Formats: sequence, C-alpha cells, structure tokens
Amino acid sequence: MNNLSIPQKEQQYLAQTYNRFDLTLSYGKGCDVWDTAGNQYLDFTSGIGTNSLGWANEQWLSAITTQASKLQHISNLFFSEPCVTLAETLCQRSGLKRAFFCNSGAEANEGAIKTARKYSSDKYGQQRSTILTLTNSFHGRTITTLAATGQDNFHQHFSPFTEGFDYIPANDINAVTQRISQGDVCAILVEIVQGEGGVITLQADYLLALQTLCLDNDVLLMIDEVQTGIGRTGKLFAYQHFNLQPDVVTLAKGLGGGLPIGAILFGEKCQNTLGKGEHGSTFGGNPVCCAGANAVLAQLDENRLAEITQKGEYLANRLRHLPKVKSVTGLGLMLGVEFTPEIKVADLVNQAIQQGVLFLTAKNKLRLLPPLIISEQQIDLGVSVLHAILSDS
Ligand SMILES: *Cc1c(COP(=O)(O)O)cnc(C)c1O
Repeated sequence: MNNLSIPQKEQQYLAQTYNRFDLTLSYGKGCDVWDTAGNQYLDFTSGIGTNSLGWANEQWLSAITTQASKLQHISNLFFSEPCVTLAETLCQRSGLKRAFFCNSGAEANEGAIKTARKYSSDKYGQQRSTILTLTNSFHGRTITTLAATGQDNFHQHFSPFTEGFDYIPANDINAVTQRISQGDVCAILVEIVQGEGGVITLQADYLLALQTLCLDNDVLLMIDEVQTGIGRTGKLFAYQHFNLQPDVVTLAKGLGGGLPIGAILFGEKCQNTLGKGEHGSTFGGNPVCCAGANAVLAQLDENRLAEITQKGEYLANRLRHLPKVKSVTGLGLMLGVEFTPEIKVADLVNQAIQQGVLFLTAKNKLRLLPPLIISEQQIDLGVSVLHAILSDS
C-alpha cells in the first residue's frame, strides 16, 4: 500500500490531534494559495495570523534566504546581528525596555509567568504568586498556559495543572479590585482582543482602570499580544489603541511572517527580573526567524498600519451588511462575525472552500485573519462569496 494519499498517510502516521479541512496545499503567493490539484483559494486565515505579509513576500523571502545562507543558527552563546536588531526595533516601537526571544506563543507566556512570579518573590517573598486571567481567555497549550487559560474545557485530562491562577470575568473592574485586595496577586494577564474566545475586544475604560489598579498595587500588567500584535489590529501592538504602558508583552504568531518565533517584552519594572541562567531557549533568537521578523517590521510602517485600519473598517462594514449577521466584532484585520442561529459556521466555512475562499472559526463565530496586505478587491471577492452562500441558506 504505497499509493496512499496525503490525507490517508496523515491519518496513519500523524497524531490525530487536528481536525483538518480536506485540502492539501501546495504553494502560495500574496493572498492566494493553490492546492495539489491546482485549485486556487483566496486566504482569510494567514496560517492563523502568522503569514502577516501573505505568502512569498519578496523582501521577507530575500531576508530569510540570505540569512540562511550565512548562519542558520548560532545558539545564545554568541552575539548575532538579526536578533539584536529585532530587540532594538521592538523596544523602540513598544516603549518597553528589553526583549527575550523564544519559539511560540505558549513559550512566551510561560516566560511572562516566570517573570511575574520572580518579580514578586524578589520584592515581597513567596506568598504573592497568584496570576489573574480572564474567563474565556486563551494563552496556550502547555500545562501552565492551559492553567492560565480561563476556559473549563481546557482543564480536563491533564491534571495536575500548575497552581496559582485565578479567573475573573472580563470588563468587571470590581472583580479585579476585590481579588487584588486579598494580597496574593502578582500579575494579571489579558488579551486586548480575545481571539480564540470569539474575537471580543475589552472595553477601553476597563483597560485604563486595570492599568491604574495594577500601578497602585504593584501588580504587573501583562498583555498577551500573541494574536493581536504586529499590526494585526491596525496598531503595531493592540494596547497602543488605549495608550497603555504594560509591564510585560508577549508576541508570537504574526512576528516572524510565517516562521516560528515568540518574544517577551519587559517594561522598566521587570526588565532585569530574569537574570543570567534564569531563563533560556535553544532556538530562541534564531537568526533566520529574526531576519524574517525584521523584514515584517520594516514593512509595517505608519502608512501600512493606517492602511490596515482602513481596510479593517472596510471589511467590517461589508460584513455587517451581509444577510443573517447579528454582529461583527474585533479590531483592524482581526474580525469575528456572529450569525443568526440557523447558520452553522462550520458548514459556512466548508461551502466557502468549495467557492475558493478560506476562513477560520472561533467558537460559534466566523473569524477573519487575512494577510495584512489584502486588497479591497480581494476583500470584495471574499465577501461576495459569503453573500452568495448566506443568501442561499
Ligand atoms: C495562539 C495563541 C497562543 C498560543 O500560541 P502558540 O504559538 O500556539 O503556542 C497564546 N495566546 C494567544 C492569545 C493566542 O492567540
């Protein structure tokens, strides 16, 4: 049996942890991707928010191939230019002070959690180690980041989970005030827009009150920008919509333009919390991934960010006018659409594939994370496919 198809071999040889669409992709350019049968698809997924500049962006491709031909990896025993340049750019554009590089969102959040615990134990001793997160949040798939994730369905099968997390409802400042007054809280970790939770943006007044509360109590404000960061919402970082100054920011998905890289940014207070030998990651700061990230950031200047905002508003507005839409939520090019109950989003996504357009879901919503370079024409094409399906159903 050597002529099994790719999906058949997947079933035989890969751990069956993913529900895949029946589509084997072959190559992509810009916002278009082709399957092995030669069918073309317009992409509103960006590899789940990773391919910021679409497929095969020329500057990005040239940066990573040039770097790969010089040094593909060096370890953190030596200095290298791409990693230091990336840290400099991220600090200058975020207002934070230092960066640590790793490989994924979960790993970045793990490092943020270690930072919060150590910051507090250095200053206040052992009894102040609780980290608050929000109900309906998502922070990753490791044992600790699952514990940080405020959704009960993620807290099954793998006990015991890491201790020291507590969950509070979003947009409820009294709940935070009360919880912090118990004296054991060292940090709060939030997503500005809950992505996996259904593309829900936190309220501005809540975020500002949260920041004040954190400052007054020396509780670290940690923002998980793994999905919202690197231009996705029309600012380089989503907290910049609300003029926040977080103590810790975590990044991953869009940073490498499709290569695996995560980052933790540290503000003034905790910039020296993790000292020599206290944290590390073999592949962290990999020169090829950092060269890719530098190429992504170089293209996300203020003009490009303004375009993302404008295209996001255009897309949201077109989505609001579709049949059977209850609400459109999100920021920039990170959008969620809720439909009237007769629409099943899984069916909608499968029908869209038949029509040559790729979408995501989040909970009961359609989720759109197109490449940041998508054109209005391409947006129109995607929306017209949704319109045709929704009009028929
Ligand atoms: C995707 C995501 C993560 C996990 O990132 P991985 O790279 O899959 O580990 C963490 N937080 C948020 C907000 C995410 O969207």
